[in-house]
Amino acid sequence: MIPSILPTYNRAALQFVKGEGSWLIEADGRRFLDMGAGIAVNALGHAHPALVAALTEQAGKLWHVSNLYRIPEQQDLADRLVAATFADTVFFTNSGTESCELAVKMARKYWYDIGQPDRTDIITFNGSFHGRSSAGIAAAGSEKMVKGFGPLLPGFVHLDWGDHDALHAAINDRTAAILIEPVQGEGGIRPLPDHCLKGLRALCDETGTLLILDEVQCGMGRTGRLFAHEWAGVDPDIMMVAKGIGGGFPLGAVLATENAASGMTAGTHGSTYGGNPLACAVGSAVMEVLTAPGFLDDVRARAGDLRQKLEGLVAAHPDVFIGVRGSGLMLGLVCKPSNLDVVAACYAEQLITVPAGDNVIRLLPPLNISDRDIAEAVNRLDRAATTLEAKSS
Ligand SMILES: *Cc1c(COP(=O)(O)O)cnc(C)c1O
Repeated sequence: MIPSILPTYNRAALQFVKGEGSWLIEADGRRFLDMGAGIAVNALGHAHPALVAALTEQAGKLWHVSNLYRIPEQQDLADRLVAATFADTVFFTNSGTESCELAVKMARKYWYDIGQPDRTDIITFNGSFHGRSSAGIAAAGSEKMVKGFGPLLPGFVHLDWGDHDALHAAINDRTAAILIEPVQGEGGIRPLPDHCLKGLRALCDETGTLLILDEVQCGMGRTGRLFAHEWAGVDPDIMMVAKGIGGGFPLGAVLATENAASGMTAGTHGSTYGGNPLACAVGSAVMEVLTAPGFLDDVRARAGDLRQKLEGLVAAHPDVFIGVRGSGLMLGLVCKPSNLDVVAACYAEQLITVPAGDNVIRLLPPLNISDRDIAEAVNRLDRAATTLEAKSS
């Protein structure tokens, strides 16, 4: 008999009933150190006082009115995002995959409106993840995600990640945009080197192609900059955001330059919930914290500390960990045994990590995790690795 919840998830036998900062409390009372943060969503940990205050205050005033009316909370968040980024304009969604939908539509509409309606192809890369909508799965194109769900949305060209020659050869007069994650998340925490992102920007400029960055996972302070592309010193034309922007409340956004967004006039796109007062009040509270002086400096310092400790862990457990990679507080440990076994061994130590592609476990802690909790996480990883070694010998 089918369960009352559609069985599309492989869930761990854990149920959390409360969160406090970087800690989750299980129904049986055990405390778990949360290095997953709801898959990079709880950017400020659980029950952050400023977010709780923003949410409860707005909840007592107004939740939803629809985009038939002006929404001051949405205006405030849009102004903050525009002030802090390359973008001239913002559209609010409720999730990463909805941001993907709009990014694709926006790129196609741009070319249509300037009289080149055949430029509809979006170039994407193997190992990428852009969400589970029809555009998202067609964009990523992996067998696992698309099998049985055809016919797929046409117009995506899939290339091998890092194959520069193939990329140069693939751009032609049907290319609308290149879509890429600056740091692949689900694919296994693979950062695009800065010089590659610079090269992509240059290639887009030469060919007039739009550059769409998917910063759903690596954005919102995760890498120690507000957005990951800032490390390379180049800007996209369109950027997808979600996950951390709501700090745990469902919220997403598409940020764009005035030029790239020029086709998106009144009536061309919409969302009932997108940019509702409740979500935007929380989003502004998140932005307030992330853009406060010194906050991202602290993230970078913490990230350096964690990375150094993880390098030591890899050196100490070569039969469990092959290496560490990533950027900021978006780190991956490449595993020797199955990454699922490593995640399970971490659960046994009351430590939350998240599996990813390429046999990696992800560490995506709250950006404001304490130094003490970082040290504790590494201790627990060390114990988990020791257990795995004992089992295999
Ligand atoms: C999670 C994720 C998405 C999809 O976001 P949803 O909110 O689950 O729809 C898209 N792109 C990237 C890079 C992601 O990590």
